[in-house]
Amino acid sequence: MKKITLFICLLGMLFSCKNNHNKTAKNTVLVALEIDSTTVKKHLYTLASDEMEGRETGTAGIEKAAVYIENEFKRIGLSTFQELETYRQTFSFHNKRTNKEIQASNIIGVLEGNSKKDEYVIISAHYDHLGIRKKEGQLDSIYNGANDDASGATGVLALAEYFKKKGSNERTIVFVAFTGEEMGLIGSKHFGKGIDATAFVAGINLEMIGKIPSFGPNTAWLTGFERSDFGAIIQRNLEGTGYQLFPDPYKKFNLFFRSDNASLARLGVPSHTFSTTPIDVDKDYHKVSDEAETLNMTVIAQTIQAVAKGTESIINGKDTPSRVVLDEKK
Ligand SMILES: [Zn+2]
Repeated sequence: MKKITLFICLLGMLFSCKNNHNKTAKNTVLVALEIDSTTVKKHLYTLASDEMEGRETGTAGIEKAAVYIENEFKRIGLSTFQELETYRQTFSFHNKRTNKEIQASNIIGVLEGNSKKDEYVIISAHYDHLGIRKKEGQLDSIYNGANDDASGATGVLALAEYFKKKGSNERTIVFVAFTGEEMGLIGSKHFGKGIDATAFVAGINLEMIGKIPSFGPNTAWLTGFERSDFGAIIQRNLEGTGYQLFPDPYKKFNLFFRSDNASLARLGVPSHTFSTTPIDVDKDYHKVSDEAETLNMTVIAQTIQAVAKGTESIINGKDTPSRVVLDEKK
């Protein structure tokens, strides 16, 4: 445990508590917020806006989201992935529901590592959602997917900016906004086919990080906690910050296999999903009511920061999580 008292400066209080090391309430998170909360809010409200039309894979709405993410990667100064000439990894697939061929793009940006550039850490979230579905008696037909998963995509963008500014990543970080997650982890499966999984030392996936968890504020939970020592490394790095990580409490939902982390985990990568949402009681999950206004911006910013601090020793090449254990044929 670190002996110095660390602070969390709540949003908007950055300056007032910068030099104040003694007045924090017990159990408050005490790490100064290094994530720019104004930009976080902009990402979230843009990606979850009606203009993006629910970001269904293969539609004009998700194309707007793709362009937004590309422009942000460019502004931040990320490079492209391996042989790709742009941030787009474009491919087509057959959509079983509509019986149509769909063209889709993962958006990938890279921050090259300093001393271990051939070792990759992936930071990901899906940017697609359910689109527009008209139902009788329902006034709103746009599934904005603010929590699911504009919040995670926001995290990817904020972490790209954070690590770029920091410049201390010894390993190469691959930032990916996956497409087609809602249609069956399509984008991450495609991504997985094109990589040498042994070069990927960890997978950090973000899903629904906008609501206060059942464990209380300043906490998150991790899927597949017991399948590698990734979670234990994060817990160790978060000691003394006031932010805690717990194992996924919703085992019966099989969440480890229901998000994009699974596509890499099946290849052996210790790839896990962070979430904060009490999914068993969440009324907005996969509903038109999953709107930006229902989310807690402080939870999002603090969780992004906790992911940055918690994964630091992996990003910096000091810790290498054990490979993932899969006990069932999935
Ligand atoms: Zn999702």
